[in-house]
Amino acid sequence: MADDFFTLARPPMTPALVVRREALLANLKAMQGFCDAAGVALRAHGKMHKCSTLGRLQVDLGAKGLCCQTVGEAETYAAAGIKDLLVTAPIPPWGPARLATLAKGGTDIACVADDAGQIERLSAAAVAAGITIRVVIDLDLGLHRAGAAPDQAVALARAASAAPGLSFAGIQAYLGHLQHLPDIAQRRAADEAALVRLKAVVTELTEAGLAPGIVTGGGTGTYVTDLASGVFNEIQAGSYAFMDVEYGDCGAPDGGEWPFRPALFVAASVVSARHKTHVSIDAGLKAFSVDGPAARVLAGAAPGSRWRSMGDEHGAIFHPSAPEAMKAAGGPDPIGALDADPAFPWPADAPRSGDVVWLQPGHCDPTVNLYDALYVADEDGRIELWPVDARRRNA
Ligand code: PLP
Ligand code: MN
Repeated sequence: MADDFFTLARPPMTPALVVRREALLANLKAMQGFCDAAGVALRAHGKMHKCSTLGRLQVDLGAKGLCCQTVGEAETYAAAGIKDLLVTAPIPPWGPARLATLAKGGTDIACVADDAGQIERLSAAAVAAGITIRVVIDLDLGLHRAGAAPDQAVALARAASAAPGLSFAGIQAYLGHLQHLPDIAQRRAADEAALVRLKAVVTELTEAGLAPGIVTGGGTGTYVTDLASGVFNEIQAGSYAFMDVEYGDCGAPDGGEWPFRPALFVAASVVSARHKTHVSIDAGLKAFSVDGPAARVLAGAAPGSRWRSMGDEHGAIFHPSAPEAMKAAGGPDPIGALDADPAFPWPADAPRSGDVVWLQPGHCDPTVNLYDALYVADEDGRIELWPVDARRRNA
């Protein structure tokens, strides 16, 4: 993976989040192409990048609009001129008035609801503002995070349709529990089985005179079966744009090579190189989300080098020759015990103080949320700064 990009695209300071523009554009075009070929709209998930410049690019390349997970993200994207937005998580009680303000300002806003109380609150806010809010009924097909049981879909759709100030716009089913299943056959079969259930709900709604305009869901880990199902008319994938270690490792949904390349990296500086086993970089727990797999070292260190946290602001890059146990979090103490052992040599190919090391984040979305800006770099190293302007807009 070591190539010229990682030599040329050095950001002016570290730790920094660097986007490889060429890979990003290829990923955006690839997913748009798959959706176009299937006759399904792409409504990319803006929670992943929280960057309106990138969101506008997705729309310019053919996306119908964006998904948001929070009201704050919707406000950021609307202010940036992205007009077709769907909030994919149920709205807390303080949210409907702000959504109504967005609708009043000309944004085509829809949001999900999974119970009657949410529908009542959305209705009251819409009536007070004198506008209409479009409501998508969220269904739970196994994630158990939000969403009504499928047998409640008709009653909730009817309630949304009858409520003053609201219109019933469609249904959502996000199958987040399937996205990273490592057994591809199992992932595909589970997705297909869930989408048969979703199809039955669409039929039931249609027979009740409530045909859903929007049938939305899907993600990077299941996009192939999502697109082939014939039930979705919108796909909500997000991570495909950047990719991360977790998605790279769990495998593409068709069992082949991923058509999406790693496009997001953390560049970090070696700030201390005093040990034979490892050097320390300025990227620790505050530079990566650590819920997923560990960040992977891609360039700037010997092949096979491994990152692990050395605290809030520091990480260690372990040389491949270091003992395995030392590379694992909670490894033997004191680290550095081998320094005095003449039989254990200083590695010649370890990074030096001041060098830049490049890592791929384990999980893209929460890592992006740690940074104010993306350094978007061309292959020749030219860099543009894109603000992560929906960062901290988690309410
Ligand atoms: N839709 C919803 C509701 C989500 O929560 C997510 C991500 O968690 C996505 C879509 C995007 O999924 P992915 O990043 O796996 O493509
Ligand atoms: Mn994610």
